[in-house]
Amino acid sequence: MMNTDVIIIGGGPCGLAAGLSLKKAGIQATIIEKGNIAHTIYRYPTHQTFFSSADKLEIGGYPFVHEERKPRKIHALTYYREVVKRSGLSIASYETAVNIDRSESGFNVTSKKSDGSIIEYTCRAVVLATGYYDHPNMMNVPGEDLPHVFHYFKEGHPFFDKDIAVIGGKNSAIDTALELQKCGARPHVFYRGSAYSPSIKPWVLPDFEACVKNGQINMSFNSEVIEIRKDGILVSVNGTEKFFSCEYCFAMTGYHPDHTFLKKAGVKFDQDTGRPVYHPETMETSVHNVFIAGVIAAGNNANEIFIENGRFHGDSISACLQDRWNRT
Ligand code: FAD
Ligand code: NAP
Repeated sequence: MMNTDVIIIGGGPCGLAAGLSLKKAGIQATIIEKGNIAHTIYRYPTHQTFFSSADKLEIGGYPFVHEERKPRKIHALTYYREVVKRSGLSIASYETAVNIDRSESGFNVTSKKSDGSIIEYTCRAVVLATGYYDHPNMMNVPGEDLPHVFHYFKEGHPFFDKDIAVIGGKNSAIDTALELQKCGARPHVFYRGSAYSPSIKPWVLPDFEACVKNGQINMSFNSEVIEIRKDGILVSVNGTEKFFSCEYCFAMTGYHPDHTFLKKAGVKFDQDTGRPVYHPETMETSVHNVFIAGVIAAGNNANEIFIENGRFHGDSISACLQDRWNRT
């Protein structure tokens, strides 16, 4: 049994930031991460450019200096690796946290390594920073589980000279269609909304609209997917059923947090927003000494918490515990 003050579950930017805040406050923390640090960013599209400038992605006061206006995925991964190396944060990588129980002194957290072995931790407090990227929003239409249907996009090259359906109308859908077009594919975007979403980054939309105008990308609004078939997609466009041939389908319908752990810990939820009940000044949930950090706090709205603001949650948590445990 390993003993520490705080267990943080999730080694994304917000879990790492929480670890750095706690360390600065003299509180010992171990981060359990099922992949390696910044695993969600590692899973982004290969050539992803951040919408944030480098300074807005900084954690723990470590400078992220970048000569271009916006860094790319590879630059952020380098930065977060360097921060972990320099700060000496305690990371238990390739361990999936699988259980949490109350104990006399706080909590027992169980994790599982990739070889199946079990590690037990005891701690006084827990921070859940598990993000949302592991759980795509399913459309629940027939054919969504076919092997040519994807919820994540990496690169355009394999889809050169192919007809592709892209579903969704926010940043992932728009970026995916643009990357596919750049690589010589023929993307057709099906969006259930009646106009471009205000969430689309304003500097991306003009490029996209130019491609639509030039016939390089097809755009269908008011389009509800009815079924995905091996050879195409059946869509209700403005209320009329239409079949479109395609060889692959990217369902970029967003992601949602997994609440299993919070439920195991007994945390309450707001049924309407999907948000865990928590105190915004301390990030403590309805369960004493169970905290949340990062996008897990956002509930159903993926466009509310980002690295830019979630990176500060750890400061609120460490201030609360420092005060509670009389650490100076
Ligand atoms: P995550 O980064 O998702 O980290 C959660 C971690 O928890 C993961 O590493 C996961 O492996 C781990 N985990 C989950 N379950 C367990 C478990 N049971 N046991 C152990 N570990 C577990 N935000 C910005 O601010 N600026 C941007 O420019 C920006 N660009 C983006 C571009 C794309 C393509 C996408 C998809 C998102 C972008 N975001 C951006 C959003 C940003 O990625 C998220 O807000 C950020 O990753 C949230 O950080 P987090 O630490 O809360 O969660
Ligand atoms: P998102 O913002 O949640 O958008 C999901 C899209 O899919 C929305 O258009 C939504 O429609 C649609 N949708 C959801 N469920 C659906 C269903 N059942 N059937 C049909 N359509 C459905 O997801 P995202 O675009 O993947 O973005 C996720 C996060 O990553 C966001 O925080 C975003 O800012 C970030 N991101 C950033 C960048 C970047 O920095 N360049 C790029 C990509 C993503 P409605 O519009 O009607 O809700």
